[in-house]
Formats: sequence, C-alpha cells, structure tokens
Amino acid sequence: MKNIKLKNKKVFVAGHDGLVGKSLCKRLEKENCKILTCSKRKVDLRDFNKTNNWLKLNKPDYIFICAARVGGILENSLYPADFIYDNLSIATNLIHLSYKHKIKKILYLGSSCIYPKFSKQPIKEDSLLTGSLEPTNEWYAIAKIAGLKLCKAYSVQHKCNFISAMPTNLYGPGDNFDINSGHVLPGLVHKIFDALKYKKKTITIWGTGKPKREFLFVDDLADALVFLMKKYNKPDHINIGSNQEVTIKDLAKIISKVTNFKGNFIFDKSKPDGTPRKLINSKKINSMGWRSKTTLSKGIELTCEWYLKNKSK
Ligand code: GDP
Repeated sequence: MKNIKLKNKKVFVAGHDGLVGKSLCKRLEKENCKILTCSKRKVDLRDFNKTNNWLKLNKPDYIFICAARVGGILENSLYPADFIYDNLSIATNLIHLSYKHKIKKILYLGSSCIYPKFSKQPIKEDSLLTGSLEPTNEWYAIAKIAGLKLCKAYSVQHKCNFISAMPTNLYGPGDNFDINSGHVLPGLVHKIFDALKYKKKTITIWGTGKPKREFLFVDDLADALVFLMKKYNKPDHINIGSNQEVTIKDLAKIISKVTNFKGNFIFDKSKPDGTPRKLINSKKINSMGWRSKTTLSKGIELTCEWYLKNKSK
C-alpha cells in the first residue's frame, strides 16, 4: 500500500474534544485537509444507528479514532462497566462501520496499558497477550485490545487499511485535571497549584511513588498520528513512546521545580501503585523516521501555563 496524502481530503477526528483530539485537530490544520468533527451531544458514538447515519451523510475519507472513555487509576477501578462498555461499543461501531462505508484508512488509538503487567521492558509490540493485565485498568485494556484486534481482523479478512497505534502515558494542555478521575501528571499539577495557592506545605502522592511511567507530550502524539496515517500500512499495532521515563516521586519533583513549590510529599500507601513500570519500545516508529521532540520539563512547563490560564481561579 502506498503512502497517502491528506490534502483536500475529508478527515474525521472522532473524539475531537478530548486531550488527543484537540491537539490532533490543531496539527491537522497544517495538512490543508477538511477536518470533520461531531459533537457528543449530537452523535453518541456508542449508538450504532446514529454513528451509521452520520458517516453516511458526511462520508469521510480517513478517520482517526481518538474517542474513548479514559481516566486515571482510581476512576478505572470505580467504573469498570463504563470503561469496558463505552470503549468496546465505540470501537465496534466505528471499525465495523468504516468497513461498511468503505473508509480508505482508519487509525485506531489504544494505550500502553494493553500490555501485561509484568512485561519485559521496554515493552515490544509482540508482548501483547503474553501475560495477565494490571487489574486496576483491565476493563479499559480489554476493550482497547478488542479494538486493535478488530482493526487487524478487518485488515486480514476484508483487506481494509485499518491501523492501530499504542501511545504511552499522555499529558498536556486540555488534560483532565480532576484529582479523582484524572491521571497522575495533571493530578499532581492540580495538587501543587492548590498547595501554592493555599500556602500548604505538603501534597499527597498516591501509592509509594516508586512506580515508573513514561510520558509523551500530546502534541508529539498528534504529530506521530499524522505521520502514521500517511506512512504506516500494516495491520499490526505500533507503539508511540518518548523514552522519557521517571518514577512518580521524580515526576512530582519536576513539577515542583517548574512551579517553584518547595513543600514536601506525603505518600498515601492506601492507594494503588498499579503496574510497576510500562516503558514501551518505540524502535519500530523511530526506525520509520519519527521521534518525539518535547522534553518532559518543557512539556510540563507548557501544561502548567495552560492550567494557570484555564483552570486556576
Ligand atoms: P496508570 O498509569 O494507569 O497507573 O494511571 P495513573 O496515571 O492514574 O497513575 C500512575 C501512578 O501514579 C500510580 O502509581 C498512581 O498511584 C500514582 N499517583 C500518585 N499520585 C497520583 C494522583 O494524584 N493521581 C493519580 N491518578 N495517580 C497518582
């Protein structure tokens, strides 16, 4: 299959309102394509008929599937049914209907939590389904695995060009900064800005602070998604990482430095640590010529600037 051009094509960003979707729409502006979006209120992508009608009417050439129910470690364990049902139905509807409407190419977005809890690090694409999942996010992970397998199945059986990409932990402007439902990076940004505002000397970090996470700035991911849409044509999923891995405690130290927070950390060990480490192997995408550009401290700086402008009152 040949590389594709997005210029003058209709490109549907499913989930344009989320962290990834917003950044992707901004990145796509450089491609001179026609960006299509649909609001959640009008078209609930979990609804087969509504999704079908919308696709029939709008006829996109290409689709990026960024729509998903996402959340941090606590949110995942509190709402298992929502996480598995919402993500499964979005995937089955959009992937099957892309086949039915003869969409030229789709890119389905997964996540690094699809890999087994104790995968050999850095985690290669072929580690998938070689061991048990991390229980705190297995509902989300099972749905995402089903999504990437759907892409592969339609590619194999129907010769569709349906690809899937697995990014590592994401962060950036527009993230969910809610302390209970968000991921660690926005959660800590929120807690640290609150501590500065209310002159508190400590912030609480969930778990032991020892787990390691790799973080990818969302604008780098958006760039990788456009790159893959243009150039990657294989049914096997592909990792997108930054190779920037830190412990949760060191992450809190970096955010403290950026924000000039001089207080201490308290570790709440009643909260789960989750998987000990999930650094992914990005050799495949790197060898195609793509690399992330934003350093973790620069990305955190941009995220904090956004938070101060948009979230702190
Ligand atoms: P995960 O990568 O799927 O485990 O999701 P998270 O980003 O929610 O959590 C990553 C790690 O950060 C886990 O070990 C959490 O216990 C830890 N953590 C520490 N403080 C926080 C916090 O304030 N919010 C969140 N979500 N996680 C935290």
